[in-house]
Amino acid sequence: MTRTFSIIKPDATRRNLTGAVNAVIEATGLRIVAQKRVILSKAQAEQFYGAHKERSFFNELIAQMTAAPVVVQVLEGTDAVKSYRAIMGDTNPEQAPVGTIRKLFALSIGENSVHGSDSDENAAIEIAQFFTDAEIVG
Ligand code: ATP
Ligand code: MG
Repeated sequence: MTRTFSIIKPDATRRNLTGAVNAVIEATGLRIVAQKRVILSKAQAEQFYGAHKERSFFNELIAQMTAAPVVVQVLEGTDAVKSYRAIMGDTNPEQAPVGTIRKLFALSIGENSVHGSDSDENAAIEIAQFFTDAEIVG
């Protein structure tokens, strides 16, 4: 069992899709072991996506991520990082396989409904940014 960090992004919360997204997640066998709905501050979003700060889309990404509530979650399961990335689909929804969250719900490459950690190491860093150990209950 491993863990990954998930965000249901503003484009999805705005359209009332948190339950629909989580139904896809839970159907894969991943378990939501921590969850909260928050509005990210600019500082939090900039820290979270710090790896992308030189990219042309950075300002747009920060604006989108802070524009409405997000749902931050910890997911647990077998090979959680890889399992969740697989069910999320490609960053660009046009390239995402049928049945993936981004194919089903994403609006564009920027407003792509969900985030998922890209490695176990980053999952641990991202989880610690939002949850204490006591808030994660499997
Ligand atoms: P995430 O980190 O959100 O799970 P990802 O790992 O699939 O997504 P990254 O390359 O880490 O993709 O990009 C982070 C986020 O930045 C994307 O999810 C998307 O919201 C935004 N983004 C990435 N590429 C572009 C782009 N070319 N134009 C606009 N926004 C983009
Ligand atoms: Mg990423």
